[in-house]
Amino acid sequence: EAPARYDFVIVGGGTSGLVVANRLSEKPDITVAVIEAGDSVFNNPNVTTVTGYGLAFDSDIDWAYKTEDQTYADGKKQTMRAGKAIGGTSTINGMSYTRAQDVQIDVWEAVGNKGWNWNTLFPYYKKSEHFQVPTPDQVDHGADYYSSYHGTSGPLKVGWPYFMTNSSLVPAIDQTLRQLDVPYNRDVNGGQMVGFTVHPDTIDREANIREDAARAYYWPYQARPNLKIITNTYANKIIWDDSKHGDAVATGVEVTSVNGTETIYASKEVILSAGSLKSPVILELSGIGNPDILEKYDIPVKVNNTAVGENLQDETNNGLSYQGREFYIGTATFSALPSAQQIYGDKLSDVASSINSSLADYAKAVANFSNGAVKEENVLSALQTQWDLIFKSDVPFAEIVFVPIPKTFLSEFWTLLPFSRGNIHIKSADPTRQASINPNYFMFGQDLTSQADVAQFIRKIFHTAPLSDVVMDENDPGLDLVPENATESVWKDWVKTSYRSNFHPVGTASMMPRDKGGVVNAQLKVYGTKNVRVIDASVVPFQLCGHLTSTLYAVAERASDLIKNSYTAY
Ligand code: FAD
Repeated sequence: EAPARYDFVIVGGGTSGLVVANRLSEKPDITVAVIEAGDSVFNNPNVTTVTGYGLAFDSDIDWAYKTEDQTYADGKKQTMRAGKAIGGTSTINGMSYTRAQDVQIDVWEAVGNKGWNWNTLFPYYKKSEHFQVPTPDQVDHGADYYSSYHGTSGPLKVGWPYFMTNSSLVPAIDQTLRQLDVPYNRDVNGGQMVGFTVHPDTIDREANIREDAARAYYWPYQARPNLKIITNTYANKIIWDDSKHGDAVATGVEVTSVNGTETIYASKEVILSAGSLKSPVILELSGIGNPDILEKYDIPVKVNNTAVGENLQDETNNGLSYQGREFYIGTATFSALPSAQQIYGDKLSDVASSINSSLADYAKAVANFSNGAVKEENVLSALQTQWDLIFKSDVPFAEIVFVPIPKTFLSEFWTLLPFSRGNIHIKSADPTRQASINPNYFMFGQDLTSQADVAQFIRKIFHTAPLSDVVMDENDPGLDLVPENATESVWKDWVKTSYRSNFHPVGTASMMPRDKGGVVNAQLKVYGTKNVRVIDASVVPFQLCGHLTSTLYAVAERASDLIKNSYTAY
């Protein structure tokens, strides 16, 4: 039997990988293979049920990666969830569809990624989207939008669930937040995110099913003869040609399945879309990374780049909850995205200058933690960029989600742009061994303080009328654990003992100039290679204020065009 050979071999049939597979295989003369460790979840109710968020956790479609002991959070490990299925993490996620603040995408270009800015990405958000205009009843329940922000002919269904939460809550939350200077925002998907909003979700409203990357980009196109998905198959590493000089040339991917280990050959390119907690690992296993790490496991160095696996950024999530007076039903999508100004009021300039004066120390600590793999000056300029976004450009500082469920009013929240930086690296040359994942949650006291400050802001929200009339006692953290007027350190202890990952890891194969700590260039091509790209959350260089998928779909859409344009014959 002749060995399997395709023009493009994509590792990971997840959120990003399926976009690229779809767009490349639009050209009938291009052959595309997708290697996916998981299987179809098309009929899995833990995936499809609109109210079923969380059902898939710890099931066989959740990688449930464990972190290293978190030094700055009492040494405990965290679980970082990720989907193992056709559709990847989009099949298990929370469906929230919010993009980014325009200036956050503009900084991609400002740091040296030519062509990547809000104006060039915005059309791709729309290209991916099939917006379902809300019904009058949904509008009544708070669904609101500007049609110019949305695309209606893309593959990804975006809209509101049929069964939305009691309409009385929208004015109650809105009036409450206005008193705390958080305005109403009709539609956060046009680049201006600050305010209270009833944002859309990735959902197929008519079918009343959760939407995911597979339903949008794969299943309707599965019959294409030039598109092949190879499931239940694990990619181990990239296989290279014999050349010793010049950029490394990938010839295929070594995979393992029940049929044993074999190579799937790529005549044009290998594209890694295995997610931010896997793509950098595959690079290392393939010889691209920090020689100190690769040599420890006898992996020959193909490309020396110490930035691989560094710059890991995630957010931390906590929840307050209250006893509800009413019995709410339906699916809530209420979020407040306050700016730092709105949270800190007249304390803002003190907070801003205290953080600013710490950035140099943070940069030194990150460089030390990486054993010199990242340069202090590069980290400092990244942290400064982030500080500017928060304190000069007024991007949202936190997301506060309001989740009224029967008799309980839950509010989950996360500060959006923590300063801590971690990394992910192999611990073995054996691809089946999980890598060492260390997000370094709360590495900097400021990240813990910010999270505690937002918690206090939320307590204030629930103490303010009319929302205060809707709830009774606080269940979490509760006044026994964190009394009224509790000190900052009591709040911080609660945050540290009850937080979880916000499941937004990015940055582990950043798109950046190489001398600034980049792993891929503005074509998403891996430095030092001729034909390997990374297209997934790994390449996002700075954390975003939106949930990630909308931006990942847009990035993958734009990347697909870059690839098509680079082969003029197509
Ligand atoms: P993935 O979608 O994870 O795709 C990677 C694929 O590669 C997977 O299918 C995986 O099985 C496969 N793979 C990995 N390694 C291998 C290998 N060695 N061989 C073969 N295949 C491999 N975002 C939002 O926008 N809104 C939300 O509400 C939201 N909520 C979330 C809730 C949870 C619990 C989680 C975990 C995430 C959430 N996110 C949310 C984040 C978002 O879903 C992810 O950031 C995004 O889906 C990641 O896309 P990706 O393309 O980078 O990788």
